[in-house]
Amino acid sequence: MNQLKKRFWQEVTAANSIMIAGHIRPDGDCVGSCMALYQYFSKVFPNKEIDVYFESIPEQFGFLESIQKSKTECSDGKKYDLFVVADSSDKERLGDAKVYFENSKKTICVDHHISNLNYADLNIVEANASSTAEVIYQLLEEEKIDCEIATALYLGIIHDSGVFKYESTSRKTMEIAGVLIEKGVDTAKVIDETFYQKTYIQNQILGRVLLESMMVLEGKGIVSCVTQRMMEFFGANSGDLDGIIEQLRLTKGVEVAILLVETGILTYKVSMRSVKKVDVSEIALKFGGGGHVRAAGCTMTGTFHDVINTLLGYCEIQMNA
Ligand code: 5GP
Ligand code: MN
Repeated sequence: MNQLKKRFWQEVTAANSIMIAGHIRPDGDCVGSCMALYQYFSKVFPNKEIDVYFESIPEQFGFLESIQKSKTECSDGKKYDLFVVADSSDKERLGDAKVYFENSKKTICVDHHISNLNYADLNIVEANASSTAEVIYQLLEEEKIDCEIATALYLGIIHDSGVFKYESTSRKTMEIAGVLIEKGVDTAKVIDETFYQKTYIQNQILGRVLLESMMVLEGKGIVSCVTQRMMEFFGANSGDLDGIIEQLRLTKGVEVAILLVETGILTYKVSMRSVKKVDVSEIALKFGGGGHVRAAGCTMTGTFHDVINTLLGYCEIQMNA
């Protein structure tokens, strides 16, 4: 880490213009990690040109003060000296921001996905870390972290650790969180308002998906689906589905949970979670996706039953191994 940290700061110091971006459909870790870098760089290097881009800004993260300064358009294709990517395990997940990756003189990727493809000039990937925010924290100087930066980092950590409960949560995670709390983070607000709080619509879809779920693999698996018609009926967007897969995973007896979200004709965004045996990242990678051992995703084509049968086949092989 020390050698990587040194190289990271060499690149950042040498650049006059820096763009920061995460992945498509930004989640808490993506937003928190990018905003922490954006605020820290802006504070430490007031004379550099620093920008941050998100495909969209989910409403629950709007409370981060500086997020209004972020770009949500990247058609300018501007050439930056340095492009820092946070939380994206492959180039495709950059979405439209790929243009900055292609055009920038230097690229750095900071991430915690075991499936990371090491696609940047400098890759700082810690697969054991709870979150990308945890990796970023280790690149920063503690005394330069103010309450706003700490809030962004805390946001990233709680989202990717499921509020400190997934197995990637370590002593280090908790110690970092402790430092951030001392910086004045309003922890109850961040946890309740960005993680647990649900809108009425989100609750309705959750209810519908749970109602239509099916137990498979003799009670060790659970599957469900969100169709485009359901999304239209509820007037929902993909962000409204956060947390549904976790509720499926928590079903008693379940080892693996799979949620298919219909994104086009015979096309599904697949979310997978496991409890302690199945390596869902390995399965997602077979279909061009990725993620973590216990949480991964990919996009697949076929009918609902074809996709589910294919995935359950791989789950069964692992469960019987
Ligand atoms: P989710 O199921 O919440 O969409 O994603 C779970 C985890 O898998 C996240 O860490 C996310 O980064 C990763 N993931 C989900 N979908 C994809 C995908 O299509 N490609 C890659 N590389 N990772 C994905
Ligand atoms: Mn993450």
